[in-house]
Formats: sequence, structure tokens, C-alpha cells
Amino acid sequence: MDIPILDLRGDIEANWNEYNEAIRRVLSSCQFIGGPEVQAFEEELKKYFNVRHAISVNSGTDALTIGLRMLEIKPGDEVITSPFTFFATAEAISNIGAVPVFVDINLDSFNIDPTKIEQKITKRTKAILPVHLFGLPAQMDEILSIARKYNLKIIEDCAQAFGAEYKGKKVGTIGDIGAFSFFPSKNLGAFGDGGMILTNADNCAEVGKMLKSHGSRKRYYHEMLGYNSRLDAIQAAILRVKLKNVEKANAHRKLAAQRYNNYFKNLNEIIIPKEYEKSSHVFHQYTLRILNGKRDKVRKNLAENGVQTMVYYPIPINKLPVYNYSEPLKNAMIAAQEVLSIPIGPTISEETQKKVAKKIIESL
Ligand SMILES: *Cc1c(COP(=O)(O)O)cnc(C)c1O
Repeated sequence: MDIPILDLRGDIEANWNEYNEAIRRVLSSCQFIGGPEVQAFEEELKKYFNVRHAISVNSGTDALTIGLRMLEIKPGDEVITSPFTFFATAEAISNIGAVPVFVDINLDSFNIDPTKIEQKITKRTKAILPVHLFGLPAQMDEILSIARKYNLKIIEDCAQAFGAEYKGKKVGTIGDIGAFSFFPSKNLGAFGDGGMILTNADNCAEVGKMLKSHGSRKRYYHEMLGYNSRLDAIQAAILRVKLKNVEKANAHRKLAAQRYNNYFKNLNEIIIPKEYEKSSHVFHQYTLRILNGKRDKVRKNLAENGVQTMVYYPIPINKLPVYNYSEPLKNAMIAAQEVLSIPIGPTISEETQKKVAKKIIESL
């Protein structure tokens, strides 16, 4: 592909020496799991988010799994979530024995529709797990007020929204727990797997720190069944370099999104990503809706012209075989047919975007 959906090379080249220096520091220390780099990274995250606890883990999936257990979600409990997200969101719920209950999305935001949550609440509902999809915060005011009314916990899936804000507050610090992924393609991406849990609740944090380390506070004194889910020091050292630049990288994504908006704004068959006054979108993905059944044709044409695009996501999660108990949800089905994510990233150039836009418009 001439134009990949995400080009990380620009960032790596721009910070080559700093990344090398970070890796060398870890090699010299001979501390590969935990240690000073991981500690320093967690401290920097606490400052960045202004929260009491930032617990690094091995992946975003683990952040969700451990986060749910920190909230004492038990087998048989129901957790309300979006059907239009990466599989791991629901998988984490199921893997602890709880049951994902899917609520349809709003087609403008691709996020869970709060007006449809209450009708899905039962005696067994224990939590709501909103996803800030593509970097756009979910409607947290509405979700918070439902959670308060029914005494539910909130765990935010922030895997795609590092740095995004809702009414001036960073996502991940609005609910009880924030779960983040440092998968390489995410807005704060490592050079391998990684993840993080945020919380302000001290007791919850204590459980989280135990769970990530085989259920023990002190080595060999295991108090519960946990996981092996620690961030390695090389990733922490890399992420510390990335964290310094993440605001700049997010600003670049925003600028790139505005450029695309200008190219596409007056076309009948394309709907550009919606933005809201209350929230800042960090454009993990720039996702169009291509109308009139033309999405696949456009995608094929772009591929033939060397432009990589992705369909996030071709099948709503509740339509996958493991979740065949769920009824079809209309907007999630429509989104799956219409969405097209196009190249965006921390260093994408105007020239590249112009080429992409031109090809898209020609393909309609
Ligand atoms: C990436 C992602 C995850 C999982 O993160 P990993 O670090 O890959 O385990 C979970 N939820 C969403 C919405 C994601 O995009």
C-alpha cells in the first residue's frame, strides 16, 4: 500500500534517538518487569489525568477484565455495553462470567445511545461499560445519571480515546474506572502490548494491584485468583517518551480531521464524523459513512489505488456466534454497512490527505 491507514514511521523517525535512549536505559538497569520505568510512567499518568491511581497492565483487554473485577462484577451479573466496538469490550465481560447486554448506538456518534439504556436494566444489571469509540467521548452526563438512579457502576472503555475530554474532564476519570490500551496503533501506543486502569477509589485500586500480580500483595502470599498482567519496562520507557508528545499528536489528528471535513462536507453520499460542543474528539479513527450501498465499492477502488482503509466494524458484536442471544440492533447494523475509516495519524501530511480525498470522491 502506498498510503497505509496508520503510518507510525514518521513518529519513530522524529524521536529515534529518544526511543533508543529509553530502551538502553532499561537494558542498563536489567529490570524488565516493573521497576523504576514503570513506576515513573504510572506517576506521570497520575499527573496527566489528575487521578489517585494509575495501574499499568499488560493490555487493554486486561484493563477491562481486571477493571470489571475491581468493581466486583460477578458471574451472572449483567453489564450494559455497545454492540459496535472491538470484540475485547464484550469478551472481557464474558470471560469473568458476566453477561454483556447490548444497547444500540446513536448513528451520529457511533456510541451507545443513552436513551435506550433504561429499558435494558434488570435486577441483575451491575454496571454500564460505555466505549468512547474512534476517540469521541460517549454521552457521559446521561450515562452518569442513569447509573446514579439505578446504583450501577461505570467502567469506561478508553482504548481509542487517550486524551479525549468530556466537558473539560479527561475520559477515564468520569466513571468509577477507566480502561486504556497501549496497543501500537492507539493514540498512545507502545511498541508491543500494554494497558492501564485509572481509578480514584483506594480500595478498588488495591484489589487491582493484587489482581495484576497473581492476586498477591506480597510475593507468594496469594489472597485471590488473579492474572499475570504487568507492563514491561521497555514498553513503559517508550510510553514515557510518547506521553510527552501525545497532546501534540492528538492536535495533529484533529487538524487532519478538519482538513478531511473540508474536502467532504458538501457531498450527498458522505457523512463526516460528528463533533459535539461538550467533548473533544481525538480522532483515533476518522470514520465516514458512505451512503447508498457504495461503501464496499469505494473501499475496493481505494485499495486498487494504493489507499488502505478499514471497516471498523463489519459485524456488530451481538451478531457474532458467541452472542447469538441478543436481538439485532438497527443502528449498529446500519453502521456496519456504511462505515469506512480512512488514513489518519500523528504525522499525516496535507498532501497525503488530498490524495486520499480525491480518490474517495472519484470512487463514489
Ligand atoms: C484496542 C481495544 C481494546 C483492547 O485493547 P488491547 O490492548 O488490544 O487488548 C478494547 N476495546 C477497544 C474499544 C479497543 O479499541
